[in-house]
Amino acid sequence: MSVDLAFRGVIGKLYEAARLHAGKPLSEAASEAIVSRDPEHVMIVTGFKVLPTMVQETDGPPGALVLAKTLRCLGVDVSLGIEEESVSILEAGLEVLNIKCPIIPLPSNVDLSALSRRAFEEKGIDLLIFVEKAGSNNNGVYHNMLGVDVTRYHARAEALLNEGRLRGCCVISIGDGGNEVGFGLIKDAVERHVSKGKDCGCPCRGGIAACSKADLVVTSSTSNIGCYAVSCALSALKGGSWFYRGDLEVKLIRALIEAGAIDAMTGREEMMVDGVPVEVTASIVELMNYMSVKAKSAPNNQGYRG
Ligand SMILES: [Zn+2]
Repeated sequence: MSVDLAFRGVIGKLYEAARLHAGKPLSEAASEAIVSRDPEHVMIVTGFKVLPTMVQETDGPPGALVLAKTLRCLGVDVSLGIEEESVSILEAGLEVLNIKCPIIPLPSNVDLSALSRRAFEEKGIDLLIFVEKAGSNNNGVYHNMLGVDVTRYHARAEALLNEGRLRGCCVISIGDGGNEVGFGLIKDAVERHVSKGKDCGCPCRGGIAACSKADLVVTSSTSNIGCYAVSCALSALKGGSWFYRGDLEVKLIRALIEAGAIDAMTGREEMMVDGVPVEVTASIVELMNYMSVKAKSAPNNQGYRG
């Protein structure tokens, strides 16, 4: 998950900082955190819109959806949250994965305290996961990786994190750039290693590094792949097999693009995630699935004759 597929040159450093915090490999830490909390209702929040049209990118929703299905397979209730304009993209993905989860539409650039309180009260949310969710810096400004102020297009989702905190809820954040909700946990590393981390270049002059802190951050080459690793580890930890396969990845990404999602690197409706072709991400899914099956049958490499 920390292979630098998008060639950004930072994932190794961010992974190192997050791993130091977690004290163990990140997919292991996140899956163990979920299992030990034994949650009844997990809320998964995603949403990052990209230039030039400011519509939802292909990184985030697939990971959130795969995590949602993995949790549903384990009998956990799941709600999803995304900007209101992007709800249909998640709906298209739910159909491909053949699951039903309520989606909470999040209005952009308004105070979400009341909505957050209501969501926690109505659903009984006891664990919160952010996936590639645009996060604000110290000045309350949301940025893309180029340092552009994208505040007015995004939900102020930190309100959900704050509500979760008040209720003693575990908060996990899965991301790849450091400008996502929860990544304040490794803010020093983001400021040090990510271009624009400390100085965005926009008039706010605050840097793109997010300030809100999750309990655990999972950094990955793309957020989707981080979610797949956590989902696969979660299934393995519970003794089951992981449902996700390479062909389903292709179907899922295609459905999200048909519903309007675009690739963050090219800004176009292409079968890519952060510029990485879907054939590559599908092969990583296959690799993860193979490793999890193999690990069960040959835990000590017995039988190796090579
Ligand atoms: Zn700025």
